[in-house]
Amino acid sequence: MIRVDFENRIRIAEASGGEPYKCFQCGTCTVNCLLGDVIPVRRNIRYVQLGVLPSNDGIWKCITCNFCRSQCPSDVDIAAIVRGIRYLNYEEKRSPEELNEILWRVYEEGNPLGSPRGERFSWLQTLTSNSNPDVVIYTCCLAAYDKRGQQVLTKLINVLQSAGVEVGVFRDGSCCGDIVYHIGDDYFYEELVNENAEKLESMKPSVVLTVSPHVYHNLKNLYPRYNAKISVPVMHHTQYLYELLNDGKLKLGRLENKVTYHDPCYLARYNGLTEEPRGLIEAVDGVEFVEMLHNKYETLCCGGGGGGIWTENMEARRATRDRLNEVTEVGTNTLVTACPYCIRMFEDEAKVTGQDIVVYDIVDLLSMAIE
Ligand code: SF4
Ligand code: SF4
Repeated sequence: MIRVDFENRIRIAEASGGEPYKCFQCGTCTVNCLLGDVIPVRRNIRYVQLGVLPSNDGIWKCITCNFCRSQCPSDVDIAAIVRGIRYLNYEEKRSPEELNEILWRVYEEGNPLGSPRGERFSWLQTLTSNSNPDVVIYTCCLAAYDKRGQQVLTKLINVLQSAGVEVGVFRDGSCCGDIVYHIGDDYFYEELVNENAEKLESMKPSVVLTVSPHVYHNLKNLYPRYNAKISVPVMHHTQYLYELLNDGKLKLGRLENKVTYHDPCYLARYNGLTEEPRGLIEAVDGVEFVEMLHNKYETLCCGGGGGGIWTENMEARRATRDRLNEVTEVGTNTLVTACPYCIRMFEDEAKVTGQDIVVYDIVDLLSMAIE
C-alpha cells in the first residue's frame, strides 16, 4: 500500500514546477509516449502526486521529447516532471553509474565525450574574427568533436561569410551544460553556465549564434534561471540565416531535390521555431518540399534528447526508426534537419537499418545553393 507523504509531495512538486497537479490521470501520455512500454508515464506522475519519488529505469530512458505533452489534454510539462524526479534521485545518489562517468568527463575535459579540451577547435582552419564580431557561434560538443558536426560548422561559417557577416567562434567555451542539467546536478550546472556566460560576454558579440537547439534552449531559457546572464540576443542559426535571407544578404541559387524536414523537439516544441527552417528550404529554387505526418509542434523525436545521445539507450532507437519510416512514407530519401544530435542519430540508424536516407543540416543544403 502506498502512503501519502505530504512533505515529499511538496518537495517533488517544487522540483517539477508544480506540473504534477495539472494531471488528472487520463493516461493519454502513456499511450502516446514514443518509448511507451519502457516508461510508465502516468503511473510515475501518480506516484509524484502522492509524494513517492519514482526511481525506475524509465526515468532515465526518457528522451525528454515532450511528445507526450503535445498530446496531453491538460498540457502538462511531463519532461519537467521527469527532470524534477531525476534531480531528486541524483541528490539521493540513486542515478545510474554511467551518468556519473559522463559528469566526470564534462568536469575534466569540458565535454561529455571525454575528448581533450585542447582539441575542441584545433581542427578549425576557417578564418574567424576574435574581436567584436557580428556573431559569436557557440557550438555544441558534438559539433565540435564529431567529424560530421565539424563539416556543418565549417559550412555555416562559409555561408555566413558569403552574406558579409563577421564571424567569431566561442573557442574558450565548454559544454553548454545540457547533459548536466538532464542528469540533475544543479550545483555543477550553475557553476558551468556562469563560467560560460562570463567568457561569452567578454567577446562582446552583437548576437550569440547556436548550431544546436539544445545549446539554444539552455542559453535562452535555462541560463537565466541560474543567474547566468547573456545580455545580447541568442539565436539559432536558422533564425539568423532567415533574417539574412529576408534582408537580401543571403543569395541562393538553384538546386534540384525533393526533401522533407524534421523539426528538432527543442527547436519546435520547446521554442516554437518552425517557420524559419521551412522558409529557408523553400527559398531554394528547384527544391520540392514535402511535409511528414508529424510536424511542427507535434514532431516526433530523433531519440537523442535528454541524454539519449550520450548513453546506451537502445530503446531510444525505436523513436529514431519510427521517424526514418515517416521519411520514406512521403517519397523522398533526403531528410533535412537543424540539430547535430538529430543528424548523428538518423545517420547512425539509417546505416543500421540499411535505409537509403541522406541526412542534411539546413546549412548543408544552403551551402550547395549559395550563389
Ligand atoms: S496525458 Fe496529461 S492529464 Fe493525462 S495522465 Fe498524462 S499528464 Fe496526466
Ligand atoms: S518526454 Fe518523450 S520519452 Fe519522455 S515520457 Fe514523454 S513521450 Fe515518453
